[in-house]
Amino acid sequence: MPTPLAEKLRQRIAISGPITIADFMTACLLDPDHGYYTHQQPFGTKGDFITAPEVSQMFGEIIGAWLIHQWHELGCPAPFSLAELGPGRGTLMRDILRVATLDDAFNQAAKIQLIEASPRLRAIQAQTLGPWAQRVGWHDDFEHVPPQPLLIVSNEFFDALPIRQFVKAQGQWRERMVGLDDAGALVFTIGEAALAAIELPPGHAQAEDGDIYERAPTREAMAGMIANHLSDYGGAALHIDYGHTKTAIGDTLQAVKNHAFTQILSTAGEADLTSHVDFEALAKASTAPGISVTPVMTQSAFLLANGLLERAGRLGANQSTAKQDEIRAAVQRLAGNGPDDMGDLFKVIIINARLTH
Ligand code: SAH
Repeated sequence: MPTPLAEKLRQRIAISGPITIADFMTACLLDPDHGYYTHQQPFGTKGDFITAPEVSQMFGEIIGAWLIHQWHELGCPAPFSLAELGPGRGTLMRDILRVATLDDAFNQAAKIQLIEASPRLRAIQAQTLGPWAQRVGWHDDFEHVPPQPLLIVSNEFFDALPIRQFVKAQGQWRERMVGLDDAGALVFTIGEAALAAIELPPGHAQAEDGDIYERAPTREAMAGMIANHLSDYGGAALHIDYGHTKTAIGDTLQAVKNHAFTQILSTAGEADLTSHVDFEALAKASTAPGISVTPVMTQSAFLLANGLLERAGRLGANQSTAKQDEIRAAVQRLAGNGPDDMGDLFKVIIINARLTH
């Protein structure tokens, strides 16, 4: 049985022809009637996948302490926007705000801004944030964040933004699309026109027929907008995501349901659909006057440098053995390098603007 969204897309494609992977992703994630983020229960042990803030409060606490430090480095601008892109259930922001109560001046100056496209998740965020929800401004996109200094974070946001895919076919690069097979089911196809002007990664000349190259114009546009904002008003951005350090050829589009990889087309709207973030492209897109971008680091390097082990020690002090084991397991999941751990798979990039004018 096709999902309701697959049926909706089938009708659309039957009328107007194949759609790009970017259009397919946008529909799967945010279709108002059947989108994954608009209708499903994505996060947590009961959902389809677990994100770092849901693993342990330590993740958000460390980011909170990092943000407070950044704010002092910036000269304590007041007011400033404390923003998050794609906050999911709101857990990361809640943990950040709990830490922020330790620094009254920071807490007073912070104007909380959440960028969230899903009305359903906005309602969950309001619940998670409890009393803080009164202080939150919600926005559909980054453009509406107020013109003032900005500290912004994101976790697993950029991987959910739509990508385009290009396939090498008979020596030429063509756009990968979603069309219909003879029986009317969704199928991957290749666009008719050859694309002359896509910027290809190093080594592309050796690419073989069937190889796939991904670009994420929406992601890059978002990174560019944030960099411009930081350049104009000062501040810093911290982005954490599943991804790779260097631009490369390869297909990373993936659907996840019930904590396992699943079919991409047949689960339209009912599985999480993401791709790995190309951090080299993200860094390149984050350019504006006065901006500096740190070399990409692993999540484990970032968390350890910012006191994960010390925090775990304090949290576990005088607790039961069971609680201490739980904390140890969370440290391993967040900063370890096993196949199920996030430490090496997730990457971190920091974008900074120290205003001199
Ligand atoms: N940061 C959270 C959730 C990650 S899932 C966590 O770590 O648990 C991706 C989040 O981004 C969801 O909240 C989703 O609704 C939101 N999102 C996806 N695409 C978006 C878009 N184009 N604009 C705004 N929010 C978007």
